Amino acid sequence: MSDNDTVPRTDGQHPLDQLNWVNAGPALGVPYYSPQPPSLILDPYPVALNDDVAELIGLDSAALRAAGYAEIFSGNCLPHDAEPVSHRYGGHQFGVWAGQLGDGRAITLGDICRDDGQAFDIQLKGAGQTPYSRFADGRAVLRSTIREYLASEALANLGIPTTRALAIVGSDAPVRRETIETAAILTRVAPSLVRFGSFEMLFYDRSFEQLAPLADAVIEAHHPEIAAISDPHARYRAWVVEVIERTAALIADWQAVGFCHGVLNTDNMSVLGLTLDYGPFGFMDSFQPDWVCNHTDVGARYAYNQQPQVGLWNLGRFVQAILPLLADEPDDAVEIGQELLETYRGIYDAAYLARIRAKLGLATAGDDDLALAESLFQVMAANGADFTRTFRGLCHVGQAPGDNEAPFLDEFVDRDAAAAWLATWRTRLADESRDDAARRAAMCAVNPKYILRNYLAQNAIEQAQAGDYSELARLHEILKHPFDEQPESADYARLPPDWARGLVLSCSA
Ligand code: AMP
Ligand code: MG
Repeated sequence: MSDNDTVPRTDGQHPLDQLNWVNAGPALGVPYYSPQPPSLILDPYPVALNDDVAELIGLDSAALRAAGYAEIFSGNCLPHDAEPVSHRYGGHQFGVWAGQLGDGRAITLGDICRDDGQAFDIQLKGAGQTPYSRFADGRAVLRSTIREYLASEALANLGIPTTRALAIVGSDAPVRRETIETAAILTRVAPSLVRFGSFEMLFYDRSFEQLAPLADAVIEAHHPEIAAISDPHARYRAWVVEVIERTAALIADWQAVGFCHGVLNTDNMSVLGLTLDYGPFGFMDSFQPDWVCNHTDVGARYAYNQQPQVGLWNLGRFVQAILPLLADEPDDAVEIGQELLETYRGIYDAAYLARIRAKLGLATAGDDDLALAESLFQVMAANGADFTRTFRGLCHVGQAPGDNEAPFLDEFVDRDAAAAWLATWRTRLADESRDDAARRAAMCAVNPKYILRNYLAQNAIEQAQAGDYSELARLHEILKHPFDEQPESADYARLPPDWARGLVLSCSA
């Protein structure tokens, strides 16, 4: 009888049991994963269930609601065929090797395989202590769970790669943070939750022979075209190229919507290039290039304008960890690793420039497009202009001088400086062939009207803490269509109120 048998299981008839549980993580075994049942929690109740993510993994959400999901997604009852595990990883935290970290409060129920072969890990975050909890309680609070739920869905609907949120389950069990709060468990879904730090852990253990099995599992499950490369060194090099490209694309995506991750430690970096581990993240309100969303980040290591460079630094730690896979001779491996890393900057710059051109409504490439964007950012920074509203306002400005400039100019105190920038933008637009309507439609499809501002999340959290989940549901619904006008919800696109300026966010809650 394993530990997992101490938690009751479904009878095989629950909607969760209709999924095809393959449990590839557990099959990989120690030292990557430890069997770990969730801990029972007091009287769990449903808070939110996400129909989109249910559909993504082939779950019938109506059937799930009817059958009840609080027992399963609290960890109080295991799906019949799940083999729950916690994952062992390490990481560089704020630039320093922190040793073993691991899933201290997250338990992966297992992974399921859709009919088309796509696999997904299903994980409960806040499901109790594990061998990696160190001195912490293994729990999460309702507040942080709602923030992750909303943020991951906001990013997904902006088209940005991220882990997804399937459900929130609450419990009145008290959890001690700065104050006593109540517990909640987030069900997180992703094709894989393997991190840069998963490989670093093996490297720092000097368990070099353990690197290939984990790399092979990732490559086989997620990169079939790379798995087909028969020479192992060539295969792993192609995989590193893929990880570099995905990381660069992800960070370019964040920069383009003013998103700051907040804790870009290597244990929070996904090898699939997904946004992973939402803590003190933030969407920027007024534009400030060195904005830091995490008040414990006193050195501003993870400031908005540092993220691209941090991506490279983190990739450096990842490549170092998997050097033994790149070549037989250590010197050759180092040289190859360095060459691969040197490609990052060019890949990132191209990815960023493509997004910035689209934001400015430019369908063609001009030599001075980056300079045009940078001059706008300067005026925005000088005026504290709102990141999202400024770009959304620009969508509506016509090419003819004076045509509908207010939505843009109203975001600036110094309207003359903003108008002067509009004049240079119009000069550039003269090289384009699209008419205003076509350009506006294209710009509105990349410049969101609705983002998850901290104050919006805070309103949903405070109402949920009082037992009312309607604001959480409403905000989630609006964020499903961030590029649509949704005039009935225009209030959610407003600047933050004064009270929101004092909101303070720090690491894990
Ligand atoms: P994070 O800042 O959420 O990425 O967490 C960093 C590390 O601390 C990871 O190993 C987490 O699993 C662990 N951790 C964070 N909060 C808790 C908690 N309440 N209980 C146990 N481990 C935790
Ligand atoms: Mg983490």
